[in-house]
Amino acid sequence: MMKYAIGVDIGGTKVAIAVVDQAGNSLTESIIPTDLSIPAIKMVEKINNEIEQVIIGTGIPTDQLIGIGIGAPGPLDSKNGVITSPPNLKKWIDVPVTRLVEQHFSMPVFLENDANAAALAERLTGAAQENDNFVYITVSTGIGAGIVAEGKLLRGLKGNAGDIGHTVVDPSFGKCTCGQYGCLEWIASGTAIARQGSAIMGKAISTKDVFNLYLSGNEEITHLIERIFRVLGVACVSVINTFDTEKIVIGGGVSKVGAPLFQSIQAYVSEYALNETGRQTEIVPAKLEQKSGVIGAAALCFNRI
Ligand code: ADP
Ligand code: ZN
Repeated sequence: MMKYAIGVDIGGTKVAIAVVDQAGNSLTESIIPTDLSIPAIKMVEKINNEIEQVIIGTGIPTDQLIGIGIGAPGPLDSKNGVITSPPNLKKWIDVPVTRLVEQHFSMPVFLENDANAAALAERLTGAAQENDNFVYITVSTGIGAGIVAEGKLLRGLKGNAGDIGHTVVDPSFGKCTCGQYGCLEWIASGTAIARQGSAIMGKAISTKDVFNLYLSGNEEITHLIERIFRVLGVACVSVINTFDTEKIVIGGGVSKVGAPLFQSIQAYVSEYALNETGRQTEIVPAKLEQKSGVIGAAALCFNRI
């Protein structure tokens, strides 16, 4: 008998809710806006109502529904199911989201940070289906990662493991939002690329504009982008040397740039990873993107890896 789970992906602008089958296919997806003007508890009530609608809408018998998985921005406490203080959900301080959802539905509810959930999704049905040792890295507004080692998701003490965005890669860069100098995220996130590109061009331009200037051969921007790709390569080598990974899956808005980014990182890794197998680590694009949030959240219920 096919089993199903509900995946809930809570983001700073929207909440996506889907019924996902055991094989990782999302059947229906419903999206509601994240209303940051109301208390978190009220927003969770809205989410509960929407989950109920989604369950009714798909008509799946409740005995085939094994649980509800929630992916949310960190920091959080995944073991206790509490969203603690995410910069992207400003008023969500110490929200016991798992308990609030559990009270409403008689099934188990799990919480995990969104990068970890995306890693599980890539493993279940995306680019890392064959891999027991891989890292998923998202290069988007910020930079985060989900680490799967020896077939298990590495959670750490509270479920915040993998926050590689605040690893220092070059202290000669400016001061990051976290207070350190030269964090990966401060140099190579989408936000950072737009900031540095804008400084070079003397006007506010988007990340995409920066890449268009790069593709059209602008010299200063080419310099900038080459440096950024190198820094992403440095980060990947650190990840490979630390976890002995066989694959790195890269997703997030910036990864849409495609071949130039993947080729540069692959070249850096092939040259600088410490050991022979490390140098052969595949650097591949994420396969799921938009859907990785809900699929990964649902995957929390299927295999508690
Ligand atoms: P979020 O951070 O909310 O998860 P995304 O993964 O889409 O969202 O990442 C947003 C970042 O990616 C922004 O900095 C945006 O400018 C950048 N971005 C989105 N699409 C592209 C693209 N096609 N090329 C380059 N950068 C992009
Ligand atoms: Zn930082």
